Amino acid sequence: MEAWRRALDEPVRVFPIVRAGPAHVATLKTIDPPLRVLEGRRFAGVERRAKRLLFPTEDGELVLLVHLMTRGRLRLLRPGEAGPKSPAFRLAFQDGSRLVLTEAGSKKRAGVWLLTPEQADEELAHLGPDGLDLDAATLGEIVRGNSRRLHSLLRDQRAIAGIGRAWANEILHAAKLSPYALTTELSDEEVERLADAIQSELGRGLELRERGANDKRTYRVHGHLGEPCYICGAPLARVDFEEHTIYYCPDCQTGGRVLKDRRLSRLLK
Ligand SMILES: [Zn+2]
Repeated sequence: MEAWRRALDEPVRVFPIVRAGPAHVATLKTIDPPLRVLEGRRFAGVERRAKRLLFPTEDGELVLLVHLMTRGRLRLLRPGEAGPKSPAFRLAFQDGSRLVLTEAGSKKRAGVWLLTPEQADEELAHLGPDGLDLDAATLGEIVRGNSRRLHSLLRDQRAIAGIGRAWANEILHAAKLSPYALTTELSDEEVERLADAIQSELGRGLELRERGANDKRTYRVHGHLGEPCYICGAPLARVDFEEHTIYYCPDCQTGGRVLKDRRLSRLLK
């Protein structure tokens, strides 16, 4: 997300918006204020809070908030450049460039909100500190204050913002910690390892995304079932936990133990 933000920050502020919309009915989450009030205004740039991109208007009256979820893509098309026929959302600027949100698949999960700055603050108030800005001391407080499995804590946006299921896998592998480890049982040294892994893995991801790398190249563990661990060479394993699939290295992370399936559906039986 930080890579998206950096790429869009300059270009979106150059020209005023001449046409806001259309937006897919499932994508646009707000109706008041209506999208057309953006027309004639200019953005002040792009900010990011975890996985959300914020486009405040230069006059300070409105904020366009975009959450891409897993499959949404945001692109700035040059004047005259061909774009998708029916994007989930589109904004046209005075020079003919367009900001276009597309989403693969039939399920529309990405969202666009047009908010006042007060509404935007409220919308974002529940987010925890951003993973990229987290030091070991702050992480220690978060970890010790939430007794639960590590994988689930890392994905919780209220605890730490900006880490999804794939990065939780990458981070825990780099930290050599079990996804099922109980947060309250981590030693100081393990918390430090976790803080380092969050920094190094999110930083690595950011760098690769900025160079345009795809998922396959970006993730070294996530989605690589049976392939050799990049540290020890043992085959990577997979387990279902809550509603997520965890990828991990039994040798590096769980002392050779294979983790048991803990799907919610199974636990509820
Ligand atoms: Zn390994």
